Amino acid sequence: MVLKRLSAVLLAMLTMAGLQVAAAGPAAAAPRILYYDASQAQEFVAAVNQGAQIWNSRVTNVRLQPVPAGRTPNIRVYADNGWPRTYSSSLGNGYWYMGREAVNDGYYVPRIAAHEFGHILGLPDRRTGLCADLMSGSSAPVSCKNPNPNATEIASVNRLFATSAALPAREFAFAG
Ligand SMILES: [Zn+2]
Repeated sequence: MVLKRLSAVLLAMLTMAGLQVAAAGPAAAAPRILYYDASQAQEFVAAVNQGAQIWNSRVTNVRLQPVPAGRTPNIRVYADNGWPRTYSSSLGNGYWYMGREAVNDGYYVPRIAAHEFGHILGLPDRRTGLCADLMSGSSAPVSCKNPNPNATEIASVNRLFATSAALPAREFAFAG
């Protein structure tokens, strides 16, 4: 309760400071829900769900949920033979591909799924080469089996969704 009250106060202060915040809805109390549609992810549906669960178990300001029937998803997931890649239209919205090029090269599928969701959640690529960084993508060794965002990546996503940050449309490729 204390935390919720504190975040409400913080949000009010940010609003007064002129930063962009959500225009409607209860202030920062509930996480923002993003619906994803994995029905076209072919053999990768389970990996897509796993990628969503990884984020759900670590961030507090946003939740990724399977889209209910009759509702338009925020996120669509596809699969093809190219490289994994994401096309984000704004924070929390867009589509991404599970690409068999990376899968066939041996990159860990749950890591790819969590990484591409990371772009939808507002994180850019950071090609540090480190397995501990989820957003290092293909710059980490093929042997890297870490599908989890690090503390900095988690904090960044929470911060972006706390203020519903406005992000420009962008494209991200797993290899580059
Ligand atoms: Zn990427």
